[in-house]
Amino acid sequence: MIDTHAHLTALDDPNEAIRRATEAGVTQILTVGTDVDDCRRALSLAERHDGVFAILGIHPHEAGTSTADDVASLRDLLAHPKAVAVGETGLDWFRDYAPRDDQRRLFAAELELAAEFRKPVVIHTRAADDDTLTALADHPGTVVLHCFSSPHMLPLALERGWYVSFAGNATFPKAVDLRLAATQVPAERILAETDSPYLAPQPVRGKRNEPANVVHTLASLAQARGDDPAELERQIEQNAAECFSLP
Ligand SMILES: [Zn+2]
Repeated sequence: MIDTHAHLTALDDPNEAIRRATEAGVTQILTVGTDVDDCRRALSLAERHDGVFAILGIHPHEAGTSTADDVASLRDLLAHPKAVAVGETGLDWFRDYAPRDDQRRLFAAELELAAEFRKPVVIHTRAADDDTLTALADHPGTVVLHCFSSPHMLPLALERGWYVSFAGNATFPKAVDLRLAATQVPAERILAETDSPYLAPQPVRGKRNEPANVVHTLASLAQARGDDPAELERQIEQNAAECFSLP
């Protein structure tokens, strides 16, 4: 199994978490950097572990303090052979940790990098779905909606051929709408992630999340869709390999 979105560098002991993931059958992990230093740490983990790859970006929360130099550094890091995508990037009008104009500017710059490197872009959107859709309207490349939480975006996302990645929140008892959305995503567009250390799925909800737990999200998605879990696992591995050009 693969965890398509984890913040390994935010875990107390990433190497132990990778070991536990391997034991649970989670042999590939995409770890996400959220600023330039964090991207360097993500790449160094990817260099040390065959099954770890890096998604490199500057998070919208960091938009207020990130500079043109940071974007230039990100550009350099994206040339690394284990850098598989740009992100997470997008707009967050919920927390509003950074001024909205700065978020828009950074998002546009990261979309340009994704287009330049022909890599997928991993999208974070919160309470900003219309503006996120507008910003992505002319984006030519592959798009992944990470931690999918906006069912009303689904028809347009599917029309545009985007990947839809479900996290632990889709397993919560009240998340009926997310599991309904999961039944509407075509098999070749669905992904699963942990977003570790956040959003631990049932039955480990409330604990610090780690990549091994993606198996719980997989089980919940398979049940919602009426899929055989082993078949959905194989499908998600294939989708991730295609989307992120994994070996
Ligand atoms: Zn994330």
